[in-house]
Amino acid sequence: MSLTCFELTDQKKQLTLEEALEALLSSANQTTPCIQLPLNKAAGFTLAETVIAPINVPQNTNSAMDGYAFNSQDLGKFLTWKIVGECLAGKGFDKPIKAGEAVYIATGATLPKGVDTVVMIEQCVVEGKEVSFTNTDTIQAGSNIRQAGEDIQEGQSLLTTGTRLGAVQLGLLASLGVAQVKVHQPLKVAIFSTGDEVTAPGESLPANGIYDANRFTLLGMLQALGCEVTDLGILPDSLTEVTSALKSASQNHQLVLTSGGVSVGDADFVKQALQALGETRLWRLALRPGRPFAFGHLGKNSSGQTCLFAGLPGNPVATLVTVMLLIQPLIRQLQGEGKSQAAIWPALAEASFYSRVGRSDFHRGIYSFTASGQLQVRTTGSQGSGILTSAHQGNCLIRIPDDKAEIPAGKVVAIYPFHEWLPSYQGASQ
Ligand code: AMP
Ligand code: MG
Repeated sequence: MSLTCFELTDQKKQLTLEEALEALLSSANQTTPCIQLPLNKAAGFTLAETVIAPINVPQNTNSAMDGYAFNSQDLGKFLTWKIVGECLAGKGFDKPIKAGEAVYIATGATLPKGVDTVVMIEQCVVEGKEVSFTNTDTIQAGSNIRQAGEDIQEGQSLLTTGTRLGAVQLGLLASLGVAQVKVHQPLKVAIFSTGDEVTAPGESLPANGIYDANRFTLLGMLQALGCEVTDLGILPDSLTEVTSALKSASQNHQLVLTSGGVSVGDADFVKQALQALGETRLWRLALRPGRPFAFGHLGKNSSGQTCLFAGLPGNPVATLVTVMLLIQPLIRQLQGEGKSQAAIWPALAEASFYSRVGRSDFHRGIYSFTASGQLQVRTTGSQGSGILTSAHQGNCLIRIPDDKAEIPAGKVVAIYPFHEWLPSYQGASQ
């Protein structure tokens, strides 16, 4: 039975990461609308159609080298070949080529009828109107030829619905002559930070203030995921302001994300504001960092779509980890990517890791390879959920799973590489 976010919440049971993810994804049953885009505007978008190859690539059998083309049946019969013309890329060569004849051929030129083998120019000796080959003993029939359709065959289903278009996919589509693609529109996401102490960078820091890290973590992530982000700034700990800001954001967005204000503290107004709008529940996640976390919806937006809501924990590492593990897959699904999961790798623990049974701990780690090519991982050190430098120093999350209190040194542990799970990741700093 599939779980929904409302069946699961307000219960004693804590949700594992997998249960939470399943509930989250099952509530996201509408993808963003589709649009037609020219190929040069489609980078980062998700394909909303399956592209069937309309042609062979390459279209014609052609030469992979500059050199001389001849018929391999001539091998052993001739020592020199008569040069009867040249065949250049984009031009072709229509005259018949007879036994003992060769043509100069350029890389990419369509192979003329009557020849099947190319000898590269470096192995050709041209004297007047004749050519001989320095490597006659080792020439293989069919050398230096690219067959029609050897890359892509006409009619082949090449890129399927849900594929995110990167440089390689754009090049592939262009090689088929495709000029327009049907893609999903970017998800419209509004973000807020909350808290009287939270101060925007650029302002002077009040005596009891803290600079707003989370909004910028979210911005980096969401922009890398191709979302259309509205940055709605910082909300004070005030029920009326939070309520009206969430209500107004829900009108023209498909997802609203806040950070902070969902814990059990007295000043946590987001919870109360949510009770007045849509349907949102606090979740008990068996995850660290990752508590507290709220999820639900804020009713329908002006386009008639449900506006989803996630209230992320305020601590900067907890925001980062919940966005990586829960929000990132949600957004990919809403933008049409389906349920394909980012990679998780097995790595050897360089030292023991400790947690508590019944909860998954996600430490920030540094993976590396031993001289013999074994993947190993160590911790970045202090793992407090306010220690954002741990994420900068690390290149992965290390999972100490629900059923283990310890992973001893030398045993295998699952790691979540940042380049897979954190779309804005710019590489390890060490
Ligand atoms: P809260 O969930 O609102 O109780 O916040 C938990 C902790 O995270 C507190 O120490 C907050 O000061 C801190 N915090 C909340 N929002 C942010 C933010 N946007 N940037 C950095 N720290 C934050
Ligand atoms: Mg707060």
